[in-house]
Amino acid sequence: MTEAVAAPAKPAAADWSAAVSTIRELAPAGRVLLICHVNPDGDALGSMLGFALGLRRLGAAQVQATFPGEFEIPEPFTALPGLDLLVPEARAWPAPDLVLVFDVAAESRLGALVDRLPAARATVVLDHHASNTGFGSVNLVDPTAAATSVVVEELLERLDVPLDVEIAECLYVALATDTGSFRFDMTTPQVHEMAARLIATGLRPGEISRRIFDSRPFGAMKLFADVLSRAQLDPAAAAGHGMVWTYATLEDLERHDQRPYVLDALIDPVRCVAEVDVSIVVKQQSDGVWAVSMRSKGAVDVSAVAVALGGGGHRLAAGFTGHGAPGDIVIAVSDKLDNHLI
Ligand code: AMP
Ligand code: MN
Ligand code: MN
Repeated sequence: MTEAVAAPAKPAAADWSAAVSTIRELAPAGRVLLICHVNPDGDALGSMLGFALGLRRLGAAQVQATFPGEFEIPEPFTALPGLDLLVPEARAWPAPDLVLVFDVAAESRLGALVDRLPAARATVVLDHHASNTGFGSVNLVDPTAAATSVVVEELLERLDVPLDVEIAECLYVALATDTGSFRFDMTTPQVHEMAARLIATGLRPGEISRRIFDSRPFGAMKLFADVLSRAQLDPAAAAGHGMVWTYATLEDLERHDQRPYVLDALIDPVRCVAEVDVSIVVKQQSDGVWAVSMRSKGAVDVSAVAVALGGGGHRLAAGFTGHGAPGDIVIAVSDKLDNHLI
């Protein structure tokens, strides 16, 4: 007998109408603060800025977008429309009227900005992580959505904000980032239909892809070469499905004069290793503190592994913060893989 698996719950009609009425009530005259997760990726920034531009079209005059931590926008995203709405966290209004949160599964990913939520009259959360804790006063969480930008597009439509080429570019960057350029499993017919609507506004997909995926400094390439050359293969890990891992230190970054965000792309060559299911990149944040990125090709639920180690994410792409030496962090991961086979 096969066990019935409950379909992940999409937002209910009541959630959509609560989001629409909250935004219609508070956005036109109030201060609206948009927040995405720490170390923002293409989905976090693209979803947030796309919606921020939509709010402007709705007539909202006071709109700020921000994210926690160091105010650095990764080079691939420095041409996104709407960047003029971004402010460093220290300049974000302490008590906004409305807070909108993008691509954030748990409040821990909001850093010091978490204090803006109780200060606001309402918080609307837009997200697609199955593990989302529902920390908003209104939660639009769709675990079947390939990116948060899918939720953003639907909310803009319900607010009668038409797509223009600037909003579309933001949402396209978000969608292309989270689907790995329309290659991952969640690349459904609906994803391609959304991409078609976005491209129809006149944006240039080739130019955007070159900018966000196929462009990096020479020093970053040399850094990748060093870090990839120390990768280790463990074919017996994950009950024989195999694991590959490597690590990058702050010294590596310094030696090649590179910024930390360039390492976000490093998981891509690592996860291509044919002999394994699980790939891991361990990136030094500070002394003894490491950001761990994990990917699976389908044999392991790395989100469950990440949650067990204090992090989160999706079934096939997840992460957590590790402490100690990279080899020991990877042993802790490896010990958990067998318990989370799909
Ligand atoms: P990354 O490997 O940084 O691209 O992250 C992959 C996925 O894991 C994303 O969906 C992130 O939201 C999630 N993730 C990464 N690091 C953490 C963390 N420290 N805590 C919670 N979720 C995380
Ligand atoms: Mn993200
Ligand atoms: Mn996302």
